[in-house]
Amino acid sequence: PLVLGIETSCDETGIGIVRGRRLLSNTIASSMDEHARYGGVVPEIAARAHLEALQPAIARALADASATEGRQITLADLDAVAVTSGPGLAGALMVGIGAAKALAVGLDRPLYAVNHLVGHIAADLLTGDAVAYPTVALLVSGGHTSLLLVRDLTSDVQMLGETVDDAAGEAFDKVARILGLTYPGGPEIDRAAVGGDPTAIRFPRGLSRASDMAEHRYDFSFSGLKTAVARWTEQREAAGEPVPIADVAASFREAVVDVLVTKALDACARYDVPRLLLGGGVIANRRLREVTVARATEAGVEVRIPPLNLCTDNGAMIAGLAAELIVAGRPASSLQFGADSTLPVTE
Ligand code: ATP
Ligand code: MG
Ligand code: FE
Repeated sequence: PLVLGIETSCDETGIGIVRGRRLLSNTIASSMDEHARYGGVVPEIAARAHLEALQPAIARALADASATEGRQITLADLDAVAVTSGPGLAGALMVGIGAAKALAVGLDRPLYAVNHLVGHIAADLLTGDAVAYPTVALLVSGGHTSLLLVRDLTSDVQMLGETVDDAAGEAFDKVARILGLTYPGGPEIDRAAVGGDPTAIRFPRGLSRASDMAEHRYDFSFSGLKTAVARWTEQREAAGEPVPIADVAASFREAVVDVLVTKALDACARYDVPRLLLGGGVIANRRLREVTVARATEAGVEVRIPPLNLCTDNGAMIAGLAAELIVAGRPASSLQFGADSTLPVTE
C-alpha cells in the first residue's frame, strides 16, 4: 500500500511516504533552533511550528516520492494516511492529527493512528535489511528512554523498562547546560568530550545493580547522574579550581552509555534474544554506537542501527508502521481519536 505518514509528536514535522516497506520520501522540518534559547522543547512553539511546516512538508514529500518512483505521485494515489496519536506533546500531536483527519476525509481514505514508540521500531523495516523478530529494542531520545521486547511489530510489543525521571537525551541537554554548553546538548557534549578521560570521574550508574534488574525490571534513572555532575562541578568551582570540561563530559557520557548498553544486553540474555535494535536521536552518539557494537559482539548479539534520519523522529516510520498494519489486515482507526500524550507502547 502507498501510505503517507505524519509525525508531529515533538519538535520535528515529519512527512514520509512509503510503498509497503519501500521508502519513497522522508521529509523532516525541525523547530529545534527556536527552542535553543530555552534549553529544551517549548510545547506551544513546537505546535505553532508544525502548523506552519506541515503543508510545505507534504508538498515536498510528494515531490520527493515522485522523483524516487520516476513518475508523478499525488495525494489521490494514496491508499491510506497515517499519523502519530501519542505519546508526545499533546498540542503538537493535535496539529498532525488534525491534518491527517482532514486528508483522510478529503481523500476518502482510511486513517491509521499509530504509536510513536512502535513507529521508531518500524523505521528499521525501511532499511531493506530489517532485523528478525523477536528482538530487543532500545529507544533513546530527548523525550523517551525505553527498552522493549518486540515479538511482533503489529501485535506483540512489551515494555521491559523506561525512564523514571529524565530521558537519556534530556540528561545530555541538562548536563550540557550545567557545563555552560548550548542546546541540543548531545552533540555539544560529544565535542567537549574529545580528548577527555572517560574514567576520570566515576559518576553514578542509576538503577543498574543486578538487584535493580531483577524481577524483569529494566527502568532507567538519569536525574541522579545529572545532580552528581552538578555537585561535582560546583565543588570544583567553590574550591577555586578549574573544571576539566573534557573529563567531565567524557565521564558523564560513559555513565549514560554504560547503563544503556548494560541493561539492553542483560535483557537480550534474560529473554534469550540475540538481537538488539537501536532507535531515537541519542543514537547519534558515536561513543554509544562504539560501546554497543563492541559489547554486543562479545555477547554474540547482533546490533541494528538504522541511518540517523530514520532514528530521529520522522514520518516515514509512521507510514511504514501503518503499511505493516494494513498488510496484517488490521482495521483503520475511527475518526474519533484524539491526542494521547501518554499512550502506552502496548496500544
Ligand atoms: P522524541 O523523544 O519524541 O523522539 P526528541 O525530539 O526529543 O523526540 P530526537 O529528535 O530523537 O528526540 O533526539 C533529540 C535528542 O537527542 C536531544 O536530547 C539531543 O541532545 C540528543 N542527541 C542528539 N545528538 C546526540 C549525541 N551525539 N549524543 C547524545 N545525545 C544526542
Ligand atoms: Mg527532536
Ligand atoms: Fe521519537
